[in-house]
Amino acid sequence: MFAYWGKILRVNLTNGTIKEEHFDEEFAKKWLGTRGFGIYYLLKEMDATVDPLSPENKIIYATGPLTGTTAPTGGRYMVITKSPLTGYIAMANSGGFFGAELKFAGWDAIIVEGASDHPVYLYINDESVEIRDASHLWGKTSSETEEALKEEIGDKRIRAALIGPAGENLVRFSAVMNDEHRAAARGGVGAVMGSKKLKAIVVRGHKRVEVADRAKFTSVVKEKTDKLRNDPTAGGGLPKYGTAVLVNIINQNGLYPTRNFQYSQFEYAEEQSGEAMAAKYLIRNKPCYACPIGCGRVNKLPTLGITEGPEYESIWALGAHNGINDLASIIHANHMADEYGLDTISLGGTLATAMELYEKGILKQEDLGEEAPPFRWGNSEVLHYYIEKIAKREGFGDKLAEGGYRLAEMYGHTEYFMGVKKQELPAYDPRGAEGHGLGYATNNRGGCHIKQYMISPEILGYPYKMDPHDIGDEKVKMVILFQDLTALIDAAGLCVFTTFGLGADDYRDLLNAALGWDLSTEEYLKIGERIWNAERLFNLRAGLDPLKEDTLPKRLLEEPVRNGPNKGHVVRLHLMLPKYYKFRGWTEDGKITEEKMKELGIEEL
Ligand code: SF4
Repeated sequence: MFAYWGKILRVNLTNGTIKEEHFDEEFAKKWLGTRGFGIYYLLKEMDATVDPLSPENKIIYATGPLTGTTAPTGGRYMVITKSPLTGYIAMANSGGFFGAELKFAGWDAIIVEGASDHPVYLYINDESVEIRDASHLWGKTSSETEEALKEEIGDKRIRAALIGPAGENLVRFSAVMNDEHRAAARGGVGAVMGSKKLKAIVVRGHKRVEVADRAKFTSVVKEKTDKLRNDPTAGGGLPKYGTAVLVNIINQNGLYPTRNFQYSQFEYAEEQSGEAMAAKYLIRNKPCYACPIGCGRVNKLPTLGITEGPEYESIWALGAHNGINDLASIIHANHMADEYGLDTISLGGTLATAMELYEKGILKQEDLGEEAPPFRWGNSEVLHYYIEKIAKREGFGDKLAEGGYRLAEMYGHTEYFMGVKKQELPAYDPRGAEGHGLGYATNNRGGCHIKQYMISPEILGYPYKMDPHDIGDEKVKMVILFQDLTALIDAAGLCVFTTFGLGADDYRDLLNAALGWDLSTEEYLKIGERIWNAERLFNLRAGLDPLKEDTLPKRLLEEPVRNGPNKGHVVRLHLMLPKYYKFRGWTEDGKITEEKMKELGIEEL
């Protein structure tokens, strides 16, 4: 088998056992990698109704066949587990260098089960695997932990996937961090590590990933890399301004939500744009492993020094979403979130929920404590104060650590929570891109943009421009195609930003050249469809009620946009959802049919 080792590491933290397991090509052809491997093992081995923070939950760190190769952006890995935020599947993706290093060590995936009774870390040095004590690391931030591990192991080249204090304290939206500022963030995967008392997975590898035909693979890689370099977004906007290049574009199109989606354009967007950040703070860009795009930012703040980020989503969540217009404060807050190990989208969304509860007089100063900064739109003091309180679960931070949905529920007003399936929404108002709204509503991991980035066709014109307010069959089918395609790209081990420049046939070429297979584009997309359906199956077993939960916040369905070019629009989800179920081949109430399961070969899971 090329591009895989066929090897999975299984670690049980309850009894300290470490095992090597194997898979064959037939399995690889069915599930490909990352999300595919993760969902297979969760469905096969775990009761989907387990408490996500109990030892019965498993957490899987998986690479794809292209991870660790020279394929453009081939450095991704994924963390798959049951989410403590949504209660459904979590599959959080990260770049940086950890994924490639895991592959160099000779492993395709790690399954961690059980829970330790004291803090530990896993140290993988090629075949050698040890569970080591991490008591001295507990309480340390991301950078402190990484530094201490490098010192202790005596190797500056180790890579680590780790948690900060937020994960240790079971914050429901805590992240798994690697390379200090890269995060597998969404769904609270960091809290699952925390519940297992697993502080870090440390890896050092010395092998090279073998592909089927080195010369052919190199030439395909060159062709696809050139395509990316010549694309105006992948080779222009993203390297120049980072993902924050989107701030002005999305704001001008009237989809940049502000003040908890009460408005859809932000008056200060320009001042927190990628262009403004480049002019004021940017030192250089920073690519992940094997990435020709390099959207990562290295910034310098006079008050803080050198840091990385923030991404578009974080600028919005910590900025416009909360009415905040102080770019320096946003950059600093992003740095703190990385150090404590928090998902910035859910962090910003939770704060925005609190802001609206405060605005409406539901949440009062006495609930927060006299010394706490008030939750007033635009008050950037809130950011720094509460990030620490949340991570440490101190004072009102303990309630915020539960996420926006549970916070709103505590005060009896879930209508002010802007999320799907208890996960906070990202930075696009779907009333200005209705297909994107259908994507949010049907996403297996709840409020999430990246698993079906309909902003591409609806706003940016990739692969071609679609009317954002068209809700016909073609739009619904495009949402499904984007969901399946993204599952394929994730499973391959690539970054979804390659879709600016590459299409489904390009991924087929890269995979076939690396693997020595001869699959068609349709066959690869079928793998994506299988993964999507398997994740849906997990959610249904976990108790998902589709007709109640494949939905959007009431505001987006019933309150027309108040300002900007989409004024007057809502998302007409009720007209798209039945078609979505039909085109997916599911029942009218959103369940997977026996025929569909058989067609995809998942009926025995
Ligand atoms: S495009 Fe950005 S996030 Fe994606 S691999 Fe490259 S640097 Fe990392």
